[in-house]
Amino acid sequence: MPVPATQSAEANLIEIFSSIQGEGILVGCRQLFVRFADCNLDCRYCDTDFQAKYSCRIEDPPGSGQLRSIPNPIAGETVVELVRNWLAQAPGAYHSLSLTGGEPLLQAETLRHWLPELRELLPIYLETNGTLPRQLETLLPYLDWVSMDIKLNSQTELITDWDLHRRFLQLASRTACYVKMVVGENTPEHELQLGAELVADISAKIPLILQPVTCAGRIALSSRRLLAMQQLVAAIHANVRVVPQTHRFMDLL
Ligand code: SF4
Repeated sequence: MPVPATQSAEANLIEIFSSIQGEGILVGCRQLFVRFADCNLDCRYCDTDFQAKYSCRIEDPPGSGQLRSIPNPIAGETVVELVRNWLAQAPGAYHSLSLTGGEPLLQAETLRHWLPELRELLPIYLETNGTLPRQLETLLPYLDWVSMDIKLNSQTELITDWDLHRRFLQLASRTACYVKMVVGENTPEHELQLGAELVADISAKIPLILQPVTCAGRIALSSRRLLAMQQLVAAIHANVRVVPQTHRFMDLL
């Protein structure tokens, strides 16, 4: 059965939940996560459930791990009301609102309607695969942080579009952005070099995170290999950190 059609100010969501950011430069910050359906890529390692469904899961109460369902598509007013309610229940707890997916920029049209009001409640953090620069540009006035991936062929088995990532990062660098590259045992030196050069060309201030791929809850490459990768990247772009997916170890959503 087809999922419901959406109006311009509605979106098919997968889930809304309260958790701790487990990746990147905001690791450890409490965020309110809004996960959008659909993605424009098909990465080999993807384990995210992003297929649009008839309903969206809402964590209720927030942080409990208990989920209830509401029908898709979801209107912006519903999300704003929920965010207001969660903020009132936990004053000061939330650092920001994370737009995640799937690929949230596929819903750029809807987000243009939603973000002005949501941003009055919390700063906005976008998690993106870094391949939709035109859509990003339309949302820049409403974004505080951008977490952007560079998708390496060795991990995704997709062709890496370096020019597209470059154009994306040039735009994202107008926000407090950082770049994440998922790396594995088989990541070749030339991919690390190209990624480091791309980020260094745009700004020495942009953090580049090497995120070791996780398999069955474990980091799937040796610490020796990670140290060697960090060393190689640092010779080109000194602002490099190794950060695994920490939420996996904390049993968080
Ligand atoms: S971009 Fe993210 S959500 Fe989309 S397929 Fe790749 S890992 Fe999955």
